[in-house]
Amino acid sequence: MTDSKSRQKGRGVGRSRNAPEFTPEKRIPVVRFPPLDFQGTLLNWYDIARRELPWRSRPEEKPDPYKVWLSEIMLQQTTVKAVLPYYAAFLERWPAVHDLASASREEVMAAWAGLGYYSRARNLHDCARSLAQNGFPTTEAGLRDLPGIGNYTAAAIAAIAFGQKATVVDGNVERVLARLFALQAPLPAAKPLLRELASILTPEERAGDYAQAMMDLGATICTPRSPKCLSCPVRKFCGVVESGEAESYPRKAAKSEKPTRLGTAFVLLRDWPGSPSVLLRKRPDKGLLGGMMEVPCSAWLAEPDRSGILRLGMSASRGDDVEDHAVYEAGKVSHTFTHFHLELRVLTGNGTHFPECAGKGDIWAPVAELDKFALPSVMRKVIALGVAAFADLPQTDGKAPINASKVSIVDRSARPSTSSGRKWR
Ligand code: SF4
Repeated sequence: MTDSKSRQKGRGVGRSRNAPEFTPEKRIPVVRFPPLDFQGTLLNWYDIARRELPWRSRPEEKPDPYKVWLSEIMLQQTTVKAVLPYYAAFLERWPAVHDLASASREEVMAAWAGLGYYSRARNLHDCARSLAQNGFPTTEAGLRDLPGIGNYTAAAIAAIAFGQKATVVDGNVERVLARLFALQAPLPAAKPLLRELASILTPEERAGDYAQAMMDLGATICTPRSPKCLSCPVRKFCGVVESGEAESYPRKAAKSEKPTRLGTAFVLLRDWPGSPSVLLRKRPDKGLLGGMMEVPCSAWLAEPDRSGILRLGMSASRGDDVEDHAVYEAGKVSHTFTHFHLELRVLTGNGTHFPECAGKGDIWAPVAELDKFALPSVMRKVIALGVAAFADLPQTDGKAPINASKVSIVDRSARPSTSSGRKWR
């Protein structure tokens, strides 16, 4: 039999030496190796090879719940590499939970800008206020009651900060388990079974170290691509190591393609070139990028918005042929969110001539100080493009750009429409 044929054969359900069996009555999975043996092997490896991370306590230290909580919130859907500078900045600025609780919402949102999933920052701040007042709950159930703490985070904090036996299952752990047990059921349907298997393997003692060992194994050895099976500490327990097909686990259900949404963003600049400012407004607190800042923007729709910049608050009173009032095409910015791709057409113009675009509460933010504002990554890209394009335009009297190709504004009197597609804002 050729290699590939034998591999094909190895794909059959239940053919792996580790594929879990189930008790006849309750369909509880039965693990075919001694959990104690697996735990001991993994923890021995962790004692030698654990990653040094700033939120981790050293073996002789007591874990700091504030550091554990802060890191776990930041690490939700985000890589360790991306989190490291944010974690360091937060800890330096707010070294204890009381400090974070005393900060303003704007300060926290601005410090979080760029890390994504911005509801986390709002929940983090609300949670800090609750923790400062009531202290840290030490049980999973108590932790779950706090803003921004779901099942996974509650289990991780309970295990790592308080040493409680808790079943900690993230994407890394799911991958390791799916491979250990050669699980044929695809994700996400396999999640309940993976959780049961994780619970069976979790030790009573050193639950926090065990959870972090599984995370480290998934992040450094049992990686999504090219897992390092030859140096894997638990290879003797692994159900797929001999098949050469580790990468194909966990099995995944076919994904539907992400839709693309389209919109227009307007980078309005004033006081150019001396101390330029850009017009910003705050997004509604609820919803995507809630509470973050943005430049004036159209709705993000499935179809091109034919009204162009009409939704940006421009009045109907001005003639299109006035050079000072021209709006210029800066280019396009693409950004991918969890559920859709966004393509923004970026326009730029001289803000002095569009006072009606500045609504109540909007601000002119100095371009040199944008780091102080809670701008999501997509808006940072938009502003960078708009500013660069504006700087390239020939200027008159340091005020208005001229002789560049203008965007044609067809009908400035139209009202924003809500019927041309689904809104994503
Ligand atoms: Fe993952 Fe390979 Fe280790 Fe199995 S042997 S757990 S596939 S790294």
